Amino acid sequence: MIGLKKINIIDAKDYVDQEVEIGAWLTDKRSSGKISFLQLRDGTAFFQGVAVKSQLGDDLYELIRHLRQETSMIITGVIHEDTRSHFGFEIEVSGLKVVGESEDYPITPKEHGIDFLLDHRHLWLRSTKPHAMMVIRNEIIRATYVFFNKEGYIKIDAPILTGSAPEGTTELFKTKYFDKEAYLSQSGQLYEEAGALAFDKVFSFGPTFRAEKSKTRRHLIEFWMIEPEMAFMHQEESLEVQERYVAFLVQSVLDNCEYELSLLGRDPEILKKYTKLPYPKISYDKAIEMLQESGDFPEIQWGADFGSPEETYLAEQFDQPVFILNYPKAIKPFYMKPHPTRDDVYICADLLAPEGYGEIIGGSEREDDFDKLEAAIKAAGLDPEAYDWYLDLRRYGSVPHSGFGLGLERAITWITGESHIREAIPFPRLLNRLNP
Ligand code: ATP
Ligand code: MG
Repeated sequence: MIGLKKINIIDAKDYVDQEVEIGAWLTDKRSSGKISFLQLRDGTAFFQGVAVKSQLGDDLYELIRHLRQETSMIITGVIHEDTRSHFGFEIEVSGLKVVGESEDYPITPKEHGIDFLLDHRHLWLRSTKPHAMMVIRNEIIRATYVFFNKEGYIKIDAPILTGSAPEGTTELFKTKYFDKEAYLSQSGQLYEEAGALAFDKVFSFGPTFRAEKSKTRRHLIEFWMIEPEMAFMHQEESLEVQERYVAFLVQSVLDNCEYELSLLGRDPEILKKYTKLPYPKISYDKAIEMLQESGDFPEIQWGADFGSPEETYLAEQFDQPVFILNYPKAIKPFYMKPHPTRDDVYICADLLAPEGYGEIIGGSEREDDFDKLEAAIKAAGLDPEAYDWYLDLRRYGSVPHSGFGLGLERAITWITGESHIREAIPFPRLLNRLNP
């Protein structure tokens, strides 16, 4: 086994007809007296190893025949094309050395219930579907950095422990901070506004925490948000940034995750529609009219916030993600800038994903006038003292600025076509789940 090139399965295509070495785990196996088919994974991809008794000799073949699921090993062999598999390549085993034994691996190839799988999330991550999900998650994160760097944004990290609560304290996790109280961040936005006035265009990417008691397929307790904020930028231009960013994420997954999409059964043709710009834009007023005219929402009145059924209905009327513009003030936070000619709505927009995946972005132009912002803070029942530093941004060289927040796991769930957001994060935190 000495002297062979050590490769990863993902690179097998570059080593056809060559003998190589691979560190791998066994995920499944089919054996007969003469030939064994080993399903292998090495963390980069999955493929098949073929072990033939007549070539390996009795002792090694017996060892291979009795390998158990998730045994780790060093395999040597020759790479061949395998046109029958998704992956396209396989290894003809010439040698095998066990590294770590594995007995009674809990996740077997049979079906398991979701609670069982989530209890074993630390092991479940090894399976093909979670693996594909996490590779796509990584691609979306990578593409995020590429996009914002290309457009001249600086990443400014927002703190996770905060002394004040941006939107009120109801959904906040409170914790001790020595002899004071602190909150886990539910958004980095206010800090990004400070960043924008110092660096022009900034973004943050970090975990956010919401003590939401709602148990839906779209809500995590801990989720990751990308929050860009741009100085000297009005909402119209921000909407352009948002749609270019979302289309770029979809295109990046199409370009770089073809194999993972196929493992998940996600049709790339559907995703291609979402790379076409611009995205449709309708007003909140129009959205209410559409819901009323549908007949499906007899109770709905102007002023109502949209739940999942409303968002799904609206999204279904379009082929692409759709922006809903200018929501009523009463259902949005205080820091948004009011509409110039109407006193009942803000200059804001949510982006709804197609196919019933709900809101993936919330954004707005920000109130940039000191007096109006201070009044809005008071009107929201918040303490202006706690926002003194935030008000400084309007005291010293205030400028029009806009920003938005994209929920990473919402975007992943939509792009992958998965039904539940818990599969879009390595270790989900849910209403009833804090482990593993
Ligand atoms: P929703 O109405 O769906 O609860 P929100 O209005 O509370 O969303 P924002 O506060 O605007 O959402 O947060 C910005 C983005 O963060 C949302 O567009 C969404 O993509 C994401 N997001 C919000 N709450 C959650 C959550 N609990 N889990 C996962 N992602 C979330
Ligand atoms: Mg919410």
